[in-house]
Amino acid sequence: MGRLFCVIPCYNEQEVLPETSKRLKEKFESLIAAGKIDADSRILLVNDGSKDNTFSMIKKLHEENPLFQGINLSKNMGHQNALLAGLMTAKDLCDMAISMDADLQDDINAIDAMVDKFNDGADIVYGVRSKRATDTFFKKYTAEGFYKLINSMGAHTVYNHADYRLMSRRALMALAEFGEVNLFLRGIVPMIGLNQDVVYYERAERFAGESKYPLKKMLSFAVEGITSLSTKPIKMITSLAMFILIATVLVFIYSLVRYFTGQTNPGWTTIVLSVWFIGGLTMLSIGIIGEYIGKIYLETKNRPRFIIESYIGDEEDMEVSEYSYKR
Ligand code: UDP
Ligand code: MG
Repeated sequence: MGRLFCVIPCYNEQEVLPETSKRLKEKFESLIAAGKIDADSRILLVNDGSKDNTFSMIKKLHEENPLFQGINLSKNMGHQNALLAGLMTAKDLCDMAISMDADLQDDINAIDAMVDKFNDGADIVYGVRSKRATDTFFKKYTAEGFYKLINSMGAHTVYNHADYRLMSRRALMALAEFGEVNLFLRGIVPMIGLNQDVVYYERAERFAGESKYPLKKMLSFAVEGITSLSTKPIKMITSLAMFILIATVLVFIYSLVRYFTGQTNPGWTTIVLSVWFIGGLTMLSIGIIGEYIGKIYLETKNRPRFIIESYIGDEEDMEVSEYSYKR
């Protein structure tokens, strides 16, 4: 049992909001009736600078039923930031928060299982797509390629999990300790630790309206994911430099052989060797500078160096954080 907040970022979602709010309301009522969540649970709609009627619809929903609450961002801040605004508002008010999209692609019926897992002690429950039957061929492969790419680049995310997840209050408290401006929630949440679990669901088609993530935004999201979580691309420069320096040795041997067998024009050996050697050296230097920039980059993120799950002993005396992570 606990107070549930469902956080939904909304950007130009007037076509789907009536249906989403109706279905969520029914879901909340049944969960409350079943005694799984508190009666004062809330649906928190974050208006991310929509240009249509989304905001006035949220206001009207709230007037009709206090179950619905709203946050209005000053302008379009993007999905991840809208989500964070909602989660950080919820963290002081709820026992658990579920984030989901407005377009009903995330199966609402998975909420039951998420809440059950929370009641069994989970802090983070990921909604993972079991199939992509409804996605177009193109979306399926671009999306799966996306997960593979960012994982191979050192950003560890949960495969086939978007931003449909439950987080306990203490997981939200821990999330609040990450001071990142470049926000890629899917990569950060696994870093929190605590008790993590998974719920499978089938991804539906967007109920109405158009995707707010065209290919261009998706690509920049992938780049954001990689560059905001890992410094692996920088490290690749160093590896490449090593490779070229090794190749230089081979070129060196090859050139000498040609030189001594008289198979060259005057000057050829010097030029070929200089090109490879100077090239490798330049790249190595860039790589070394990059390693330091990578360190500076991670330092400026000001990430928490540890997150304490619990204390054994006289807790009151031991609490080092201003927050209580107790559940
Ligand atoms: N969204 C947002 N701000 C944006 C873009 C999207 O708040 O700038 C919201 C959008 O309203 C939806 C969610 O993010 O609730 C996911 O967007 P969408 O369904 O269009 O993405 P897709 O499912 O196509 O990847
Ligand atoms: Mg969608």
